Amino acid sequence: MSKKVAVVTGGAGFLGSHLCDRMMAEGMRVVCIDNLLTGNINNISHLFGNEDFQFIKHDVTNYIHVPGPVDYILHFASPASPIDYLKLPIQTLKVGSLGTHKVLGLAKEKNARFLLASTSEVYGDPNIHPQTENYWGNVNPIGPRGVYDEAKRFGEAITMAYHRYHKVQTRIVRIFNTYGPRMRVDDGRALPTFLSQALRGEDLTVFGDGSQTRSFCFVDDLVNGIFKLLLSDETDPVNIGNPSEITIKEFAEELLKLTNSGSKIIYKELPEDDPKIRQPDITRARMILNWEPKIDRKEGLRITLDYFRSVIQ
Ligand code: UDP
Repeated sequence: MSKKVAVVTGGAGFLGSHLCDRMMAEGMRVVCIDNLLTGNINNISHLFGNEDFQFIKHDVTNYIHVPGPVDYILHFASPASPIDYLKLPIQTLKVGSLGTHKVLGLAKEKNARFLLASTSEVYGDPNIHPQTENYWGNVNPIGPRGVYDEAKRFGEAITMAYHRYHKVQTRIVRIFNTYGPRMRVDDGRALPTFLSQALRGEDLTVFGDGSQTRSFCFVDDLVNGIFKLLLSDETDPVNIGNPSEITIKEFAEELLKLTNSGSKIIYKELPEDDPKIRQPDITRARMILNWEPKIDRKEGLRITLDYFRSVIQ
């Protein structure tokens, strides 16, 4: 029997590259598409030379050609950190809208199953806590984060339209904050910023008073959840994340302790529309996918620290 083929857009990114690894480990052929705008070829360099792996350098906002049959498409292409989408607002909007349209077109053409990487940003600065999938969110469309939040919301809308109108098999994962090896050191997110500051002996820059919360999921848990969702029959969005919630100040303190750093915490201005609280309600993932995270922050951060030590000079 010939091998199944998976296309991963954004496959050279943090999450995309872990998904390429997982699909290869499942015995599939993988076509990784990335324009390397925020992705990094080093994340997939270990896969080059494997005959089941192919890399196409391409911007998915333009017509996508993939020869031969395709079984699964994981659409992960997008700038994904607040700093990135502030720097790349038009590209962020384009990949979430035009790009998702093109990738859905590929799924329709190939009769492939399509999985959209949506995120907790569709909930904006949430008024209900923890966030359940039936919450419609509190998003400022014209604020600096709007380019990402609305692109993700549009992505979900067009995915459901292709499902309903064209009968494309679709899945939507809503990803909450995730961390692990291959996270970009300079992407401006809390974890890479704090870890690199701590390792370099610089002050940790907590935004606002640090009372805002996030819930961090280790990448291996996230990838397991996404793979289960891909194989399931669920077409409505499913939250995948780790419900263990922590304030950003406590998180910075945790990282100082972990790294034995002599750095101190300094406070900077809170970015506009920064969500005050965030925690996934994973009841549906537990019920439908029989999934829950297994790796606690202590273990996940130890693995992540090893990676950061290896890449930070
Ligand atoms: N944050 C911070 N210092 C930094 C970077 C981020 O205090 O150097 C805060 C940010 O304001 C937010 C939280 O950490 O409240 C998580 O930010 P991140 O960029 O990781 O992701 P977000 O969840 O906001 O998309």
